[in-house]
Amino acid sequence: MYGSIPTDPVEAERKEPVATDYDEIRSDVAESRNASLEALKSANAPDARSVVREMDEADTTDGIELPGADLSGEELTVVVIPQAEDEFTCFSCFLVRHRSQIARESNGQAYCIECEG
Ligand SMILES: [Zn+2]
Repeated sequence: MYGSIPTDPVEAERKEPVATDYDEIRSDVAESRNASLEALKSANAPDARSVVREMDEADTTDGIELPGADLSGEELTVVVIPQAEDEFTCFSCFLVRHRSQIARESNGQAYCIECEG
């Protein structure tokens, strides 16, 4: 009975008065909605968990060996800008700034005044 809903207005008019047809369609829709809800519920939980796990892994990798390679997207163009001698790349926000804006430096990692507040 799926997919047999007429798109032709003449067809629709002819079928509309048939009550049994409507009941059939309605219960079909309700059933399939329940089914997809169940599917969503059981599919959602593992999804959310794996997303969290992925984020954890990304965080760890970032912190350990890829400090300048924040590939999350938006600031990619900023990262690529070549660094002049009087500039530094903030280790926290990865923006290239003038050295006068260094607020803190530790282990060769500089942080800008905005990130250090
Ligand atoms: Zn910063």
